[in-house]
Amino acid sequence: MKGMMKAAILYKPMDMRIEKVKIPRIKPNEVLVRMKRVGICGSDIHYYLHGRIASFVVKEPLILGHECSGEIVEVGRGVSRLEIGQRVVIEPGFVCGKCPYCRSGRYNLCRTVKFYGTPPFNGTFAEYVTAPEQNVYPIPDNVSFEEGAMIEPLAVGMMAAKMGRINVNDTVAVLGAGPIGQMVLQAAKVYGAPEIYVTDLLDYRLDYAKKYGASEVINASSENVVERIMSLTDGEGVDVAVDASGSPLAIRQTVDIVKPGGRIVLVGYPPSEVSLPIAEILPKELTIQGIHRYANVYPAAIKAVSSGRAIVKPYVTHIFPFEKILEGFEVHIKKIGKPMKIQIAI
Ligand SMILES: [Zn+2]
Ligand SMILES: [Zn+2]
Repeated sequence: MKGMMKAAILYKPMDMRIEKVKIPRIKPNEVLVRMKRVGICGSDIHYYLHGRIASFVVKEPLILGHECSGEIVEVGRGVSRLEIGQRVVIEPGFVCGKCPYCRSGRYNLCRTVKFYGTPPFNGTFAEYVTAPEQNVYPIPDNVSFEEGAMIEPLAVGMMAAKMGRINVNDTVAVLGAGPIGQMVLQAAKVYGAPEIYVTDLLDYRLDYAKKYGASEVINASSENVVERIMSLTDGEGVDVAVDASGSPLAIRQTVDIVKPGGRIVLVGYPPSEVSLPIAEILPKELTIQGIHRYANVYPAAIKAVSSGRAIVKPYVTHIFPFEKILEGFEVHIKKIGKPMKIQIAI
């Protein structure tokens, strides 16, 4: 498709403007998707405020955004499975498909991945984006565009549940009840965990967790998390603890609250190095599992939402029109009006 489109372009920290740019051209194996909803992620905020995350630095003007849903408006001639008019979500990591990681199914570890909104690859705060056919998944009619744009964060939760081998026998603790912690909660339900405890510092987030599936919630600012979880489990500890907070204190607590033979799953990024007591990890034979984005969970995440087993809709607390994207970022940064997920309607 020829012509111009609106896109939100980050020039430098705190300087993002909506401007007209050329609609990107599709390659034969790609489709052009008209964006409908794009969620604001913590990583978008980090790039907006600091212009970098670890070694990823915004050097050229960049379009942020990766949690998206939309409608196909153009199809490359090599595309066989998709058609114009389909409502879709896009898995945002475009991988080589040839390296040992890709070939073994762990494509989220591909060293040459191009990820939406991660320098130098433009993201989805734009009217149109291109995507390779293999990354595009049609969504059923009963999944709204709002829910569609929640599939990406839910996929992170599904990956945590999958890699943590959460199952029907497991008591699970989720530390941190921001949007990712909530999606881990939803995924733990989908994977069959009968008991799920959720912690956070903010009561309103714990209210969401309690309302949408947590067995117990614990406010870590007023309660002793370790004592509370040990008493909830008759002194045994949980089978799986997932840290979705990135808080060094919470990460340290996982060692104390997991029972011998249990699993620790790390999803949240801590601000700096965290030290862990190896002399406690060894005799308990704990497994520590890091999570990097996701692989092979998008279809399951879509089915979980479509079937109602994962609840995502109530977490979308704010929707801003595209022209007000800066307001959306502001609400996220200052936590105005008890936000969970803020989306932009494009
Ligand atoms: Zn995200
Ligand atoms: Zn690869």
